[in-house]
Amino acid sequence: MDKVDRQINADGEGNMTDKAQAIEVRDLYKRFGPLEVLKGVSLSASQGDVIALIGGSGSGKSTFLRCINMLELPTAGSVTIHGETIEMKQDGHGGLMPANRRQIQRIRTKLGMVFQSFNLWQHMTVLQNVIEVPVHVLGQPKDQAIAVAETLLRRVGLYEKRDAYPAFLSGGQQQRAAIARALAIQPLVMLFDEPTSALDPELVGEVLSVIGDLARENRTMILVTHEMKFARQVASHVIYLHGGVIEEQGPPEAIFENPQSERLKKFISSIH
Ligand code: ADP
Ligand code: MG
Repeated sequence: MDKVDRQINADGEGNMTDKAQAIEVRDLYKRFGPLEVLKGVSLSASQGDVIALIGGSGSGKSTFLRCINMLELPTAGSVTIHGETIEMKQDGHGGLMPANRRQIQRIRTKLGMVFQSFNLWQHMTVLQNVIEVPVHVLGQPKDQAIAVAETLLRRVGLYEKRDAYPAFLSGGQQQRAAIARALAIQPLVMLFDEPTSALDPELVGEVLSVIGDLARENRTMILVTHEMKFARQVASHVIYLHGGVIEEQGPPEAIFENPQSERLKKFISSIH
């Protein structure tokens, strides 16, 4: 554990808590032209929390994840990762821009992102995909990065495929490779955006099984998913987003067994 991990954090009231704050998003807004997609979304996760983000198509789930790692720039609000707040300044057009690009680049290397569409580099083998950022962005020695990558590929069951190109893998194998690639940077927080939505049904289980293992390892994760049964099993907290606001949130038992809002009730029954 590094120093930041062990930092004692103050909660919203200024009381000291001894559970390290892994990620704190405050009052995030995002507008695309006239379309306000996020209207003040906040989230706070301690080390080891697994937050499941659920909601209908177009509710702003992907935009929220993309704002966390600044793939999209929020219009307002703040993102803090392990105590470090991303510095933003007004862009002069009613939005925000990074005040410190190097800080954003550095913080991005602490966030492991897994996309619905895998996004592996097609011209690289599985192993090359996994070592690319550690070697060429983080400057790790190649042999060390390869050793780490091989360990990760064993964990996701892909060691035998390390020299294969993505086009020769199934969707489930590609997504497991993408997870290994995201883990290779030793991220503080893993962000999953519907990691199984693009998979044939028979391949969903192998990917959920890998994500479930990670969830049980005290890893901090934010997981956008439509797999309600899985979310019920692995999440420590569930957030239901509707129209860019949090309509309801709580522990998985409460959200799935005793939803309060009519919209959430409908959403849950529509997905089963
Ligand atoms: P979800 O992931 O919950 O399905 P998204 O975050 O992808 O929702 O999208 C929320 C809304 O924002 C949608 O109406 C979508 O069309 C819009 N949107 C997303 N990205 C962009 C963009 N880059 N430009 C304009 N509109 C966008
Ligand atoms: Mg989405």
